[in-house]
Amino acid sequence: MMRNCPMSKNAIPAGTIFGHLTVLERLERVSGDNRYFRCRCACGAEVEVQGSHLLYSGITSCGCDRPPRPKTSSPSERRLRTAWRHMINRCTDPADKDYGNYGGRGISVCPEWVNDFGAFRDWSLENGYAEDLSLDRIDNDGGYAPINCHWATICEQNRNTSRVRRYTAWGETKILSVWAEDPRCQVSYFALRQRVVYLGWKLEAALLTGKHERPQSKAA
Ligand SMILES: [Zn+2]
Repeated sequence: MMRNCPMSKNAIPAGTIFGHLTVLERLERVSGDNRYFRCRCACGAEVEVQGSHLLYSGITSCGCDRPPRPKTSSPSERRLRTAWRHMINRCTDPADKDYGNYGGRGISVCPEWVNDFGAFRDWSLENGYAEDLSLDRIDNDGGYAPINCHWATICEQNRNTSRVRRYTAWGETKILSVWAEDPRCQVSYFALRQRVVYLGWKLEAALLTGKHERPQSKAA
């Protein structure tokens, strides 16, 4: 409610309430040009608070209603923990609203991340995590794992979803996760992906070379 004579930081009437605090009296004590006011908190404690802090700094108690904050949890850590939980839920919990598009069609989270939030957090912070980005899978049919993920803008995500890369071997063209299920493929999807996408192997060699073998010829 507006008053004709607005309250100033050095003239707050006794009885004025700020959250849990009720102003009792103005004190002689000053800090610079700020007067202090004795206030009673709802918990019974009496405190001396500068008028400017009551009016402008949102001081509403003696401190008793402030939940203790764990010092180790930064805002970005909390956001990452939320992203981590949602990622696991949509891949593992049939009750999750997005399960059909993730766990329901075989998208999983790598063991390293499922079991260890710290591993996911560290990878994120080392790989361009920012508040305005979201976790995107490079291959839309691949799972959540360091090799298949990056932090992307929504724009990049949409572009990626509509353009899944296809690869050709022996005259057949398929997406990589389908190639990984081909009987000729000797390695896991992630190994295949690493070889083809990051190491530049020819697809035939990447498929036919066993896990611990070196490629016969990786040149194109
Ligand atoms: Zn209190």
